[in-house]
Amino acid sequence: MSEVKNHDPECLFCRIIQGEIPSTKVYEDELCFAFRDIAPQAPTHILVVPKTHIASAAEIGADNAALAAHILSALPKIAAAEGLTGGWRIVSNVGDDAGQTVKHLHFHILGGERLSDRMA
Ligand code: 5GP
Ligand code: ZN
Repeated sequence: MSEVKNHDPECLFCRIIQGEIPSTKVYEDELCFAFRDIAPQAPTHILVVPKTHIASAAEIGADNAALAAHILSALPKIAAAEGLTGGWRIVSNVGDDAGQTVKHLHFHILGGERLSDRMA
């Protein structure tokens, strides 16, 4: 169970990080948390989220760039631990046109098979 900075009590991912809603955790450190997507779109589908409530990548800027860099630096560790030696894809949906459904910044890690040539 972890504390979330700028915590939004209505936010699904804040609640998952805090252990109020169960998830299958694959990685955690002081700044980020990673768990399996409930509706996987590839054999490996992981969500990596900051332990700070940030609505989306549209909110990344000078004041939280170090946190964003920290999350990016965790992605290869998670992919390696999952055995994604053939490659993997990072996706972060921002806003309605991208179909963002949970308004807490998250990076999808997708892999475990040859992924679609199309990204959209
Ligand atoms: P988005 O569409 O916002 O980019 O991604 C949200 C992701 O959260 C979706 O892939 C969806 O399957 C996943 N998701 C939604 N609710 C839950 C949940 O309760 N638990 C987990 N582990 N994933 C969830
Ligand atoms: Zn949140």
